[in-house]
Amino acid sequence: MQKKFFGILADLAFGLQKKQFVYEKLKKNEEYFYFQQPELVKAIQELGLFMLENGIVTEEGVPLAPQNETDAINNYFSKTLDEWPCGKHPHFQNLLVYQENEERLIYLSPERTHYEVTSWCEELAAASQSFNYEAMQGAVYEQFAFVSEEQYVFLRKYIIEHPIINLIDKYEFNQSGKKMGLTTDYMDKFIETAFEPIPENVVGICGFCKWTVVKTTFNERCIDRLCYNNTDNFFHVEEIKDKTTKLRLKPGVMKFMSLPGKDELELYEYCKALKLDVALWPDKDRYDLKIVTSSTVLAVDVKSYFSPYLLAHHIESKGIFKNLQGSERRILVVPDHRVQKKDYIQIIRNILDDKGVESMTMKSLKKIVREEAKRNG
Ligand SMILES: [Zn+2]
Repeated sequence: MQKKFFGILADLAFGLQKKQFVYEKLKKNEEYFYFQQPELVKAIQELGLFMLENGIVTEEGVPLAPQNETDAINNYFSKTLDEWPCGKHPHFQNLLVYQENEERLIYLSPERTHYEVTSWCEELAAASQSFNYEAMQGAVYEQFAFVSEEQYVFLRKYIIEHPIINLIDKYEFNQSGKKMGLTTDYMDKFIETAFEPIPENVVGICGFCKWTVVKTTFNERCIDRLCYNNTDNFFHVEEIKDKTTKLRLKPGVMKFMSLPGKDELELYEYCKALKLDVALWPDKDRYDLKIVTSSTVLAVDVKSYFSPYLLAHHIESKGIFKNLQGSERRILVVPDHRVQKKDYIQIIRNILDDKGVESMTMKSLKKIVREEAKRNG
């Protein structure tokens, strides 16, 4: 997708998500009134200007863009991109390189009074420059700069395995850190960077990812659509006792480190069981897993995105497999539960094939791993 348009979409997604959040808070306190979300207003204005600059206009030269917030919500954000009033305009179609035209930002209630953001919108919002999810993750990575490779694996694994901790966990984590050569000051700072108090609207523990379920106007939600799909839609939610003495991972850390980390650890254990030589995050995260066999070295990066287009965008903007050594075979692997669209892998292949990176599902990678283990004897 064209870079500037992507940036505007991400800001719109952020504004929509924030507005929904504020609305729910007001509703909870039974003080609903109409309000404008400044971030959303600003992003809608940006969109109008963008359409004008790119000649996406009517015959009279008026930009094909929302007139106001209501118009934006009813006629743009609740529709798929190709249903937008500008959807048929050739200049607009040119923007959508990855044909993400079947996506929409929000679901609108039938009476058009509320909306709920989609998973695509959530992922986009997390990519917004103005949003702090990536900053949360970035702050943890900054802390990693001070530790050895061994300490790094210890800390990163802890985050993946502990979405919620209590005071005893915290004490024990501190003690283990000390044994690994990390100071109490460092450990305190690390915990403060990665964890936060449990917010008030949390109703329980997610049966899928073990993080927190919050109650919203439409339903209950956790960190990812996966949680919803892999539980009974949060019908039964385990209660959190003594909320005030517990901490949870910050949302950005949960979303970008802990959640994908589960698939990394699972693959690691799978290779271990096959007696393969496997390491997590070699050289502090050149990539996710290094699997060494008698015939080859597999460099594996696990990427867990709901939308293949966002994954493609992420790869195009941030790059992938930058510090490779020698003849490492580069593999981008997508967890099986992510591959719901039938052309998901193909979309990734379209941009990665000529970069010398193979893209496949976890299932396909495990097959390769089993064959390598057999060859190893
Ligand atoms: Zn969850």
